[in-house]
Amino acid sequence: MTKGTPSMGKKSGKKNFMRCRRCGKPAYHLRKKRCSSCGFGNSAKLRFFNWMKNSKKKSCKK
Ligand SMILES: [Zn+2]
Repeated sequence: MTKGTPSMGKKSGKKNFMRCRRCGKPAYHLRKKRCSSCGFGNSAKLRFFNWMKNSKKKSCKK
């Protein structure tokens, strides 16, 4: 296992992620048949966690 440019050769081949029909992000997993961003294919509801609500209201102030 090496870091850097030689590792880029492993990127070729099968694609795992596709653009999601529901959220539009390239987070739909083709082998798992679900979206890792909105949970499409996993549940009818949007994937949501309580720790996500802060990111919508507050901007990150550091
Ligand atoms: Zn999605």
